[in-house]
Amino acid sequence: MSEDLFEKIIDREIPADIVWENDDLLAFRDVNPQAPVHILIIPKRKIRTLNELEDDDAEVVGRMVLAAKKIAASEGIADDGYRLNFNCNEAGGQSVWHIHLHLLGGRQMGWPPG
Ligand code: AMP
Repeated sequence: MSEDLFEKIIDREIPADIVWENDDLLAFRDVNPQAPVHILIIPKRKIRTLNELEDDDAEVVGRMVLAAKKIAASEGIADDGYRLNFNCNEAGGQSVWHIHLHLLGGRQMGWPPG
């Protein structure tokens, strides 16, 4: 039985609009998009928060960023620009306990974030 929401998406127990995957990563559209393009890139191996990352996870985190770069290009937002965002724990705005990289684009981003 899957433990968290994103594990259920990985296991196809709940539907998601999957845009890309490989053996280690899955990318799908956010159900509550904050921009015209809002895609989540997750590792298939559960890592609860950024605080649980180990040195050996450098490869998977790097691959998440590279996947986001490729998906930004395929979504047509690479040249205009986009934002990559990790949230960690409550104060960082994390609500799903399985690390995920937000890819946001298709509109002008503000700074600082709310
Ligand atoms: P965070 O607040 O950084 O933990 O981001 C969690 C994200 O997951 C939010 O942007 C949610 O809209 C998104 N989300 C929650 N449930 C689903 C789902 N079933 N499919 C796709 N995205 C989801």
